[in-house]
Amino acid sequence: MDHLDNNAIRQLRRRLLKWYDTHQRQMPWRDSRDPYAIWVSEIMLQQTRVAAATDYFNRWMAAFPAVETLAAAPLDDALKLWEGLGYYSRCRNLHNAAKLVVSEFDGALPTTASSLLALPGIGRYTAAAIASIAFNRREAVLDGNVIRVLTRLCNDDRDPRASAVNNELWARAERLLSPTRPGDFNQAMMELGAMVCTPKSPRCVDDPKLCPLSKLCAGFAAGTAETLPKKAPKKKPPHYTIGAAVVMDSRGRVLIARRKEGGMLAGLWEFPGGKAESGESPADAAARETAEEVGLDIEIIEPIATVEHAFSHFRITLHTFLARKTSRRRAKAIDVAEVRWVPPADLASFAFPKANHATLRWIADQQ
Ligand code: SF4
Repeated sequence: MDHLDNNAIRQLRRRLLKWYDTHQRQMPWRDSRDPYAIWVSEIMLQQTRVAAATDYFNRWMAAFPAVETLAAAPLDDALKLWEGLGYYSRCRNLHNAAKLVVSEFDGALPTTASSLLALPGIGRYTAAAIASIAFNRREAVLDGNVIRVLTRLCNDDRDPRASAVNNELWARAERLLSPTRPGDFNQAMMELGAMVCTPKSPRCVDDPKLCPLSKLCAGFAAGTAETLPKKAPKKKPPHYTIGAAVVMDSRGRVLIARRKEGGMLAGLWEFPGGKAESGESPADAAARETAEEVGLDIEIIEPIATVEHAFSHFRITLHTFLARKTSRRRAKAIDVAEVRWVPPADLASFAFPKANHATLRWIADQQ
């Protein structure tokens, strides 16, 4: 930042905001000044790209147009609309926070970053984003896009994940922030990172005129932009084999189980099953886990689907099997939150993790 004096910083704000005013992408939440809509969009965008989040956002706002509607809705309805978007704790936190906003703040979202931070699911970035975009507060944001722009702008080759460097980046973002249009400035920085100062090939390399900041950018001047920010060496994520059973009873109903609170995918429904132990086949894992989770002995009939799925820190191969119960015992929730026998036609109204969708399609095709 040392290479930018106050005059250059004013120039940077002017250039960036002018670029944003003409080049920003249309997004449904950008048409809105409604703090609730901006909050929903920020939560959806935490781990999801704009293109993927847009349809979800539109469906969500049609179903829950105000914080009161969300607070009054059952969590299952919210999870069903979130189905496929992943990182389901975002949805549960949003639902919990909506209830708090209604009960504690009379339905009005707090307007400062520090008060927003007290709500479930809102961290430093999201609090600053909502406060600046919805309430025009002078709060800078720092996300992956902004980190990329700032490290290149300052030709900074230190690891941005190191806490001292990260603190400096926050301070840089605060120093650059436009005092008059903080929300637009924050969105402009993120938009520049997404559209121009892109991870693999920043547009300035082809033509410096494509970036409004190229005249002020130390990374561009040094020819190092493409090498920044410094990346940590990639570790290969662990892989797990999962076996799960689609158990049918004599009436053709399917057994589903709701995952326990507190863990991954909490509150979602799935077929009983789990990780194969060392040397165990997926079918045996499905049978063992069904006994452990819901207390039923089963007989595997045939394979249904094999699906590869990547989570943030690991990958799975999910094998599902058609099975019938062989014990007379009733299914009960032992290591799950709840069990239900459901007619296949009703499965569509339950929220399942994405990895189960091929199996759900298979069941629907059998009807
Ligand atoms: S000049 Fe290049 S590296 Fe610098 S901010 Fe613009 S796109 Fe990024």
